[in-house]
Amino acid sequence: MSTEILIAGGGIGGVATALACARRGITVTVLERAAEFGEVGAGLQIGPNAWRVLRELGVLDGLAGRAVLPSRWALTDITTGEEIFSLPFGEAFEERYGAPYAVMHRGELLTALITACRGTGLVTLVPGKEITEVGQDGESATAHCADGTSLTADALVAADGLRSVIRAQLLDAEPPLLSSYVVYRGPGPRPEGIEDAVMLYVGDGIHYMQYPISGGTMLNRVASFKSTRGEPGTDEWGTPQELTEKFAGAMAYVRQAVAEMDIGKRWPLCDRKPLAGWAQGRITLLGDAAHPMNQYLAQGACQALEDALALGAALAETPGDPAAAFKSYEAARFPRSSAVQELTRFVGDFCHFGGAAALLRDHFLARLSAEDRYAYTDWLYRADGTLPSRALPAHVDLYALRS
Ligand SMILES: Cc1cc2nc3c(=O)[nH]c(=O)nc-3n(C[C@H](O)[C@H](O)[C@H](O)COP(=O)(O)OP(=O)(O)OC[C@H]3O[C@@H](n4cnc5c(N)ncnc54)[C@H](O)[C@@H]3O)c2cc1C
Repeated sequence: MSTEILIAGGGIGGVATALACARRGITVTVLERAAEFGEVGAGLQIGPNAWRVLRELGVLDGLAGRAVLPSRWALTDITTGEEIFSLPFGEAFEERYGAPYAVMHRGELLTALITACRGTGLVTLVPGKEITEVGQDGESATAHCADGTSLTADALVAADGLRSVIRAQLLDAEPPLLSSYVVYRGPGPRPEGIEDAVMLYVGDGIHYMQYPISGGTMLNRVASFKSTRGEPGTDEWGTPQELTEKFAGAMAYVRQAVAEMDIGKRWPLCDRKPLAGWAQGRITLLGDAAHPMNQYLAQGACQALEDALALGAALAETPGDPAAAFKSYEAARFPRSSAVQELTRFVGDFCHFGGAAALLRDHFLARLSAEDRYAYTDWLYRADGTLPSRALPAHVDLYALRS
């Protein structure tokens, strides 16, 4: 029996899902609100867990010459310039996880996914289609669009991001949780002498991150700080002037890098608490629509890619019964993505410690053995990585998945 799927949202999650479905012989239509398929922002870190997904989806050729494989991930004190911790991404890392750690331009990843979708002959990409509401009956699911049109298929996947209208309609109308941190992203040409590494400089309530992208020709730069002016999201909150003030005590290199950034747009950081119930009959949530998270573990898009693969497999396993496929997809994905969502918050706090907490952190990291450095990332990056039982947040209701 042939299945047709509608996907709401043509970001990395939506397009990867289209490809994962098409690889299983499923026909897909992707509806994207924007006039063109494209990605805002610049760099993306892709951990080995997501690189394996990209390999399985057959998009690595499309990234050749564009994805950069950095030599290491390093944590440095933003004030003194002292290196606190370094995780090498060499042979041992790649062997352990069966894939490298990669960094790339978001737009280049999306292009590679779109090219692969086109190659299947099963994916139709429709820009300029904003979904306002969805509906379903026992046989089909329908997307109603702002231009007055409606499209119907066997099932619908909501990959419409952090502010998903479909999530609001079906599961949770609450707005995302706004953190007090603001992010400025300023990619630019890569200056001479920049190491091929993911460099994170941390201080009390601030961080600066950089890594090369676009075949190593560009440098992705991100500066973030905890704003102490007004309410998150308001005009006086997280301004460029506060950015300069907050970074005034940073080492000269970071101060200069931040001063050189083109800071046209600020990004208030948002996430949500894990909430089960993505699968609702013939409609399911995926990616940021299902489990938006902060960026501190660099896993939001990686988790969306894992979702995509799991969803394609689930649909192929129960042909003709997308509702059952969506239930088993959620059961497979919810515990892991919930743990990542929660751990991400902790990692944010850990990076932004000041005073005695920062001293303890640095002391702990400096004494990790070579093996222990990896032990903390095994469950996240390893193909057979099992979730440590204590990693699952207490409030995550696994029972809800069984009903
Ligand atoms: C500063 C920062 C750094 C990050 N760094 C990393 C990183 O290094 N690694 C990583 O893995 N993740 C990272 N992330 C997270 C990552 O960006 C997201 O998790 C990921 O982009 C989510 O993809 P998505 O497809 O689910 O949603 P989105 O990328 O938000 O895509 C949703 C799409 O749906 C469309 N849409 C929305 N509403 C509608 C509608 N009503 N109708 C039709 N279309 C609609 C939108 O236009 C958009 O194209 C970072 C996030 C931030 C903020």
